[in-house]
Order: sequence, then structure tokens, then C-alpha cells
Amino acid sequence: MPDSVRSSTWEKVLNFLAASEESTPYLLVDRDVVAEKASVIGRGIRNCRVYYALKANPDIGIARLLDRPGMNFEIASEGELRILASLGIGPGRIISSNPVKSPGFIKQAVSYGIEYFAFDSAAEVDKLSALAPGCNVYVRLTVPNEGSEWPLSKKFGIEPDAAVELLLYARDRGLNPVGVTFHVGSQCTNIYNWSMALDKVSTVWSGAEDAGLRLDILNIGGGYPIRYTKDVIDIQSIEEMIDALVSRKFPPDVQVHLEPGRAVVGDAGVFVTSVIGKADRGGVNWLYIDVGVFNGLMESIGGIKYEYIVGSRAGVKRWTIAGPSCDSFDVIAHDVELPEPMIGDHLLIPSSGAYTISYASEFNGFPIPKTILI
Ligand SMILES: *Cc1c(COP(=O)(O)O)cnc(C)c1O
Repeated sequence: MPDSVRSSTWEKVLNFLAASEESTPYLLVDRDVVAEKASVIGRGIRNCRVYYALKANPDIGIARLLDRPGMNFEIASEGELRILASLGIGPGRIISSNPVKSPGFIKQAVSYGIEYFAFDSAAEVDKLSALAPGCNVYVRLTVPNEGSEWPLSKKFGIEPDAAVELLLYARDRGLNPVGVTFHVGSQCTNIYNWSMALDKVSTVWSGAEDAGLRLDILNIGGGYPIRYTKDVIDIQSIEEMIDALVSRKFPPDVQVHLEPGRAVVGDAGVFVTSVIGKADRGGVNWLYIDVGVFNGLMESIGGIKYEYIVGSRAGVKRWTIAGPSCDSFDVIAHDVELPEPMIGDHLLIPSSGAYTISYASEFNGFPIPKTILI
């Protein structure tokens, strides 16, 4: 059994494969793992509300599974709002932490009743004050993303001094400044990113207080890591540290918001793909499968290293693994040691429930793989 798949999931996957005629590629998602993650994440932090970042996997079946007491949602677009609206999920359970939102989305969110929005620029304040007057806003800080496999700090966020100014500007424009947010980077394996981020937030908090603002929401974003090919720090340890820091540095009634995406769905997923070709090119063994960079494994080019599993018992070789499209960018892994599979054999990819299907396109005519809950 592979290291990154729990035995109950593995058993379900094998049973599915034995019984199903489904043609590859498709993503199997273990509903029990999703439900368990949803109930565990956030439990280690006092006064914490959890918002699932829908972009990690917006499959309607998964959203339905997460529509349970104690779970809320973080969205960024009209498309994501439509998914939640179709399930009847109320606006009190939805926030948008994208600091730069399209005017069309803001209008729809407001008409749906959503009241909480992130921002990090004066232009966003102006936009919100025109389209969502009186809404609650929280400012996004830039924080260290070192050690995160998928950094997010360059595109968004501002420094503490500017954040205090901007909170005051938001108040002057008739918005209700309620708090501060940050994102330590996705797949964050460096626990110190959270403590450095919380230090920065506490500077903003006291600066805002000195300026006469009372904040009450500390939104700590996402970033909890999952196991791909290496062990990572467990969620319980991360939350213990966050909880200790929050109680030391913030008022006792602070409301913590948490926005996990990857950690909720990532290790519930197993991609089922097929080997479609092999070639020896100048001494390099190439293995071609029916999922690649464009139809599900986009994160492989950003540094995520998946585990690959084949059923073959043939000799082990070192492979370069590539997707099915004609683009030479469509290469998902190098130097992967695997027993040689035959054309048509299944190749399984665990820990693939997050940021796979949600990134997939139909480039070159390859369909977006189906998601099947097991
Ligand atoms: C993507 C995103 C998340 C989820 O991040 P993960 O690393 O998947 O946990 C949370 N909050 C915001 C604002 C995001 O953009």
C-alpha cells in the first residue's frame, strides 16, 4: 500500500477499480476523508470559524458533503457563488477573501447577501464603497511565504503601516473595518510562517487600536499542508502553535477565521489514469499518461511532487512522465522510479484531490476528468 493513502481509502479505490468500467482519467474522492478533515480542521483553535476555500475543489458533490454544521465557504467569483447558491447555502456562511474582486462579482455577492470582503488597495475600497456600501472589510497583509510550495505573497498584501492607513480609509469611505487577513502560502511546510504572520498582524491590530479602530476578526487564511511524497507537519501541531500565539497576542474575544482548501480535500483524492505510450529518447525513458499539466496536474509544474503507483511487477526503470497533449510543456515529473507498466495499465496518483480538476482545461481536446465520490 502506498504511504500517502490511508488503508480504508486504498481499499475503496481497489474495490472501485475491480467493479467499474469507467474509462480513465477520473478522480476518485473518498467522502469519509473529506468529512473527517472537515470536522477536525479548526478544532485546535479557540473561537475559530472554518471557511472551506472552494477553489481547491468546487465539485458539487464535495460542496454538498461540506454543507454541514460548522462549515462555511470562501469564494472569489460568480461561478463559485452559483455552486453554493444551487445548494441553498446562505450568505451568512460565505465570505470572499480575494483582495481584488471583479465589480460583477461584488454586485452579485451583495445581492445574495454576502457581507464580508478582503481588500488591500485604495481602489478596492473605492469599488466596495460604491458597490457594497457599509460592508465588513478585512485587510490583507503580505507575510513570509518561505517554505511554501505554492507561494501567494507577491500578488497580494500590504505592509502593516499601509494596512492601518487603509483600514482608516475604508472607515472614512463608509465601510466597516473588522479585521486583518494573510496567507502563508499554499502547502506551507514551514510552521514559522504562521508565527511571523501573527507578529505582523498584531502590529496592525495595535496600530488600528491606537487610531481608534476596534477590530475583531483575525483571518489566518489557508496553507495547511498535506502529504505528497514527504511527511509534513501535522495539523494538530500547527493549530496548537497558532492557538497559543493568538491567546498571547490578541484580545480574548478575537474571532479567528480559517480558510483551508488543500487540507480538506487533497489527500482524499486518487487520480486514476492510464498509460498511453512509452518511448526511449536518447537514453531517457518517457512514460505518457492520459492526465497532464493541462487536464489536472497543473501543480506539478509549480513544485508539487506527486507519488505514482503502477500495478506492474516488471523491472524498475527511471521515468520522465508526461501528459497526453502535444505541448512540450506538458511534462509532470522527472526521475520517477517505477516498475515498467504496459500500455493500457492504470497509473494511480494519490493526494490529488486539491487544485487538480479545478485547474483543468480541455486544451488540445482532452476532456476535463470526472470526479467520482467513493
Ligand atoms: C486559495 C486560498 C485559500 C486556501 O488555501 P490552501 O493553501 O488551499 O489551504 C484560502 N484563502 C484564500 C484567500 C485563498 O486564496
